[in-house]
Amino acid sequence: MTEEASADVVLHNAYVVTMDGALMVLRNGAIAVVGDHIAALGPSADVLAAFPRAAQTLDLAGRILLPGFVNTHVHTSQQLARGIADDVDLLTWLHGRIWPYESHMTEEDSYASTLLCGIELIRSGVTCFAEAGGQYVSEMARAVELLGLRACLTKSTMDCGDGLPPNWSTCSTDDCIQSQKDLYGKHHNTADGRIRIWFGLRQIMNATDRLLLETRDVAQELNTGIHMHIAEIQYENQLVMRTKEIDHGTVTYLEKIDFLRSNLLAAHSVWLNEPEISHFSKAGVKVSHCPASAMRMLGFAPIKEMLDSGVCVSLGTDGAPSNNRMSIVDEMYLASLINKGREAYISGTTNPTALPAETVLAMATINGAKAVLWDNEIGSLEVGKKADLIVVNPFKWSMLPLHDSIANIVYCMRSENIESVMCNGQWIMKDQRIMNLNEGGTLSLPADMYPLCSILWGLWKLIASAGRNGKLHGYELVNITCLKHNPGIFAEVPTYPPHLFRRRYCMRRSLFIRIVKACEANSNYFKQRRNAAGVMGFNAFQKLSAAMRVIAYGISADYTDEYLRIGKDTTSESVVWANLSPSSQ
Ligand SMILES: [Zn+2]
Repeated sequence: MTEEASADVVLHNAYVVTMDGALMVLRNGAIAVVGDHIAALGPSADVLAAFPRAAQTLDLAGRILLPGFVNTHVHTSQQLARGIADDVDLLTWLHGRIWPYESHMTEEDSYASTLLCGIELIRSGVTCFAEAGGQYVSEMARAVELLGLRACLTKSTMDCGDGLPPNWSTCSTDDCIQSQKDLYGKHHNTADGRIRIWFGLRQIMNATDRLLLETRDVAQELNTGIHMHIAEIQYENQLVMRTKEIDHGTVTYLEKIDFLRSNLLAAHSVWLNEPEISHFSKAGVKVSHCPASAMRMLGFAPIKEMLDSGVCVSLGTDGAPSNNRMSIVDEMYLASLINKGREAYISGTTNPTALPAETVLAMATINGAKAVLWDNEIGSLEVGKKADLIVVNPFKWSMLPLHDSIANIVYCMRSENIESVMCNGQWIMKDQRIMNLNEGGTLSLPADMYPLCSILWGLWKLIASAGRNGKLHGYELVNITCLKHNPGIFAEVPTYPPHLFRRRYCMRRSLFIRIVKACEANSNYFKQRRNAAGVMGFNAFQKLSAAMRVIAYGISADYTDEYLRIGKDTTSESVVWANLSPSSQ
């Protein structure tokens, strides 16, 4: 104990799971935090004796102390899109729903989305995350600084490919690189060193070779990382094989052009063959395994094979519209079960020893730290490392009894067991209270778009379900959308023949075009109604309109032309909007 005998925080009488090289676990252990780092770690009696005058001395009464979790694949911008793309294939998800949504976001949306996402991350014990790539990195940084989290932030870049929204398709290779260099200059190592700027590549289908190789070189020059979705779906591999004339998918091609480096964080990496796993292993590429997202849209990733060949595999939640629950705690549970289950699927025989609890816990902690190139400072509880830690209360219905604490952390723990979270020596959640912002107030931030999204999404789902079961009642639509005074807008809905897909497709599109048009035509009236109802806040109409466009885009990717044409028609019918508050539904 060489530190001066004063500490900011001493946590004692804890079950300390260090995740250090020796996987040391301490019963009745303690940690002393000085400033942003761990100054001492050892038996409670020793640490208490060495730091008798700590500003805060907390008896954890047997609770578990763990390193903060590292979530290595998060789309903070997508938090506001939770629920807009369930049960669709990946290309529909991407081209028809998410890109239209993301490309219509404002900076303010990105800030609100990151705050909301951050709350969920903190509640699941995450202290550090890797942003998968969004548009407004400065707004993400502003939110991360406030939340107190640690993050590797990344701008999403695309300089070619199909399906890009109109306002994204003009980004040149030079712009992609320069804008990221600018962000690096502005935000790297800010917020007391908690924010780092990485380079982003959305995926190979939207990146030219020049963008890939310049990104590789600039990231290396700046000594930072690259985050990229790699080998997500079979279609991606097939396209790469066809267009690049190689015998397997993305990884084979990336190896061929000498793109693979140890600062590359590859998200998903589901469709890899054996040689490609060894390319990753040799180059030291890190992988972010996102089990929930993989099960929804991608497939079984060869995680056990990657781990066996020495690839550093970490865990990510992906974004809210591809997982819905942004909890790394849930991902640990899923990672173990899915990869045990996959053994039976690929070899015809069960293997319950695949991905044991210790391995999964390492994926969420020290492997996560390695994946974000920060393991010299985080990922384990060790003297000298940053004080990024979480306090788990296992004495609840979900975790008792504690026959094997490590197994219970992976197989039994819920986010609700996490009581307190410290990042960089500061409590960012204490006794389940988020410290740096008003959580209730933040949750009401997206109220501008939320009621409308939910109302319209309810409408869309109703139409979609009518297509499946052939039943649709006009009055239900009227009730759901609260367009009680103008049911005429839906007059054609009950009569459309559900067995004709084309008709249904046209129906949806025309319906939403009319809604958007009507909304815009009635903006003043709508604004007044909103103010009177008191549900929406500022910029109600703009937000409303944006949300509607998002949803309309989601219904049909080729909506733009028709919208522009009809939007110019000044003879729009008038629709009276009434009773839009959710309580009146
Ligand atoms: Zn992603």
